[in-house]
Amino acid sequence: MTEKKQDSRCQLCGNAKKTQSVDNVAVCSTCRTVLMTVKNHPEAIRKAWHLYHDEPILPQPNNIANLEPIDLPDVVDGKRYRTVDREQNKWYLSVSEVEGNPVEVFASTAFDRNHELQSRISNLTTITRLISLILRHIFLYEPLTLDKCLKQIQRSSRQKNDLPDMLYGVLNRYRKGPTEESDKNSLIM
Ligand SMILES: [Zn+2]
Repeated sequence: MTEKKQDSRCQLCGNAKKTQSVDNVAVCSTCRTVLMTVKNHPEAIRKAWHLYHDEPILPQPNNIANLEPIDLPDVVDGKRYRTVDREQNKWYLSVSEVEGNPVEVFASTAFDRNHELQSRISNLTTITRLISLILRHIFLYEPLTLDKCLKQIQRSSRQKNDLPDMLYGVLNRYRKGPTEESDKNSLIM
C-alpha cells in the first residue's frame, strides 16, 4: 500500500502524490527526475524537446541568441544520400551531423563541371549555404546575423551579376555599421 498524504501535491505536475523537496520545490518522484535533468543536463532536455515540438523550448524569440554557441567540430559525422531529380540528373546530398543533428548540407551533381550551368550552380550553392547557416543556428546556437547571411550569399556567387551577386548588392544596402571599405575586406573568403 502506498501512502498518500492529502496535502501532498506536486508543484510541477500538480498531481496529489507523495512528494519530496528538491531545491525547495515539492515534487513527485517522476517530476524529481525531470527537475534534476533540467538542472544538471539541460542539453538533454533541449534535445528531447526538439523531438516533439517544432518550436523553441522557451517563448522568447531571442532564446537561441542567448545560448552559448557550440563550435563546429573539426571532424563531423556525415551521411550521403543519392537522389535523382526530375530531369534524371543524379545528385549526392550530404548532411554533416553533430550529435545526430544536421548542421550543414552540401549538394553535388555531375553537371558541376558544365560551364553553361554556372548560374544554376551558384543558386544551388546559395540554397545550401543558407540552409547550413540556419541549421547551425538551430542546433549549434550560432548567432544569425545579416552579416552572416550576406557573407554566405556573396560566397555563393560565381560570376558578376548572377543571382547571388545581385541579391548581395541589394541586401548589402541594409547593412548598418562598418564602412563599405572594411566590408569588402571582411567579406573576402
Ligand atoms: Zn509531479
